[in-house]
Formats: sequence, C-alpha cells, structure tokens
Amino acid sequence: MNQDLPPYIDGRDVDKALSLWHSGQVVAIPTETVYGLAADACNGEAVAQIYATKARPRFNPLIVHVANIAMAKRYVIWTTEAERLAAEFWPGPLTLVLRRKDNCPLSELVSAGGETVALRMPAHPLTRHLLETFDGGLAAPSANRSGRISPTSAAHVQAEFGATIPLVIDGGICTVGLESTVLDLSTSTPVILRPGGITRAMLSPFLPRLGETVTGGTLKSPGMLESHYAPGIPVRLNVTEVATDEALLAFGRDVPPGSAHMLNLSPDGTLTKAAANLFSYLRLLDDTRYRAIAVMPIPNEGIGEAINDRLRRAAAPR
Ligand code: AMP
Ligand code: MG
Repeated sequence: MNQDLPPYIDGRDVDKALSLWHSGQVVAIPTETVYGLAADACNGEAVAQIYATKARPRFNPLIVHVANIAMAKRYVIWTTEAERLAAEFWPGPLTLVLRRKDNCPLSELVSAGGETVALRMPAHPLTRHLLETFDGGLAAPSANRSGRISPTSAAHVQAEFGATIPLVIDGGICTVGLESTVLDLSTSTPVILRPGGITRAMLSPFLPRLGETVTGGTLKSPGMLESHYAPGIPVRLNVTEVATDEALLAFGRDVPPGSAHMLNLSPDGTLTKAAANLFSYLRLLDDTRYRAIAVMPIPNEGIGEAINDRLRRAAAPR
C-alpha cells in the first residue's frame, strides 16, 4: 500500500497515523509552513483534543487541510474565485476561508461555531500522501502550546509535546517556515486576514476587488467576529436551579430538574465531549419558545477554559 512513497517516508508511521486518526487521536505532522497538530476534522471530540493539547484558552477556528479540490468541495461552497486561486497557488501556503456547505460533515469546532471554514492544500509530499490515504480533512493548527513559537522541525514538536501526543511524524525542516496567508473569500470583498508567503501582490491579479488587509492590531480575534455564533435568547451561567420556561444546557450527573427542555453536554463529565457538543447544543436550545438558556457550571480546567470563554461571550449583554 505504501510502495509509492518517497524513500525518506516511513510507511509504518503512515499506518500508525491513520489508525490514530481513525480512533480520534492527535498526531503531529509536517507541512511546508510549520508543523501541525492534526486530527480528524469531522470528529468533534478529536478536534476538541487539539485545543486541549495546545492549552488554547479560546476556540479560535482551525485550518482544515485537504488532499485536493474535490475534498474541499465536500465541505464548502466552492466559488469561481476559489477555483482560480487554487489552480494557481495550491498546493501551497494559501488558506481560503469559504462558507460551509449545508450538512457539512466537519465538526463545528473547526469553525468555532461560525458559518465559514478555512481550507488549505499543503505541499509537503508526506502530508499530501497522509491526506490522500486518510481521505478526509485534517484540522491542524501549529504544533505549539498556546502563545509559544510555531515549530519548524520534529525536534521542536518533540520538545513541546513529546510526552502528551502519541506520534510526531518527522518530515524534515519546514521549507517555508512561516504560516500560510489566510484569505477570506466568504464576504463580498475578499480580505487578507493573515499576511504570509503568498503576498498581496501575488494575489491581486486574481482578485480585482481585494479589500484592505486586516492586520494584527485591527483584526478581532476570530472567535469574536460577528459571524461567530451568538444565541438570540439570553444565556444565564452557572445555574444550580432552572425555571420551567428555560432550556437547560447541562453538564455531568447532578442535573437540576424542571426545565422546559434539557440537553447534556456530557453526562459523564468529559470536557472534550462537552466541547464537541457545545456549538450544536447552543443552536438547538436557541429557540424563542424558551425564555433563556440556563447553563450549569463547567469546570474551568483544561479545555473547560475555552468552553467557559465561549459561554461568557454568549451570555454577555448585546
Ligand atoms: P494556526 O491555528 O496557528 O494554524 O492559525 C490559523 C489561522 O487561521 C488563525 O489566524 C485563524 O484565525 C485563521 N482562521 C482559521 N479558520 C478561520 C475562519 N473560519 N475564519 C477566519 N479565520 C480563520
Ligand atoms: Mg499558531
């Protein structure tokens, strides 16, 4: 099965990575930009495990890596601009933000609950082989703990995560060593959200309407963009009692009785499970039949920090 691999690729690593992804685990992979912490983008708990591993205090949206354009089309509404740019710059360090398709199978966590998803086809031959063989998108942010420098070698990743992730695949030193350019094609005027190796000058011949670049200082954290999901009805946090006209977002075993409707993020109290269910359950409970969404306390440890960050912003006055 792996006989066509370039000689420096270890087929056993490929088989091991595929079986880890199929069982919902995180594997570090090389790309031409930086090393990534990769998991099955369609498996919510696996994606939650990425945030937990990185100790990210927020659900920033994640880039989904695809093997080819056909795979991209499974997930997003593909546009003529996307077609033109992908023909020119894929595989390579250009990430395209596009609208999710109806019934998109990707976890809502990769979009941080929003309507868009960032896609990229990486150029690294080993990672392309992994994506083709896995035959599904891999969510992969840079393989560093939140706030630390992006890794450009397998040794960097080993030093950062060696003990906590089951496999780091060594694909050599990253040839680009700088993160991809992120281009938002989901709005009427395309905008560069993160400058990178594919420059504005390279993009503009393909995009007559390219807007002003939104750089660091002015860019709102993606988790805060209006496009990201905020419930229409009030949200009440840390409840221990619930009213009969409220919908209850529960966590764990000791669920207060009497709500109009109840969904439990994780009856057995698993935080990665709660993270995987968070956005879809908020949507399901966001119904004007209820006066508010009442949310039980979520432990503020590990990925619970990102869950509580999201809930606090959902509950903030608008
Ligand atoms: P990293 O997690 O370090 O690989 O960085 C990913 C970058 O892509 C971050 O700057 C994210 O904000 C950005 N990004 C990912 N998905 C989206 C999206 N759906 N909309 C806007 N920006 C995104
Ligand atoms: Mg990063």
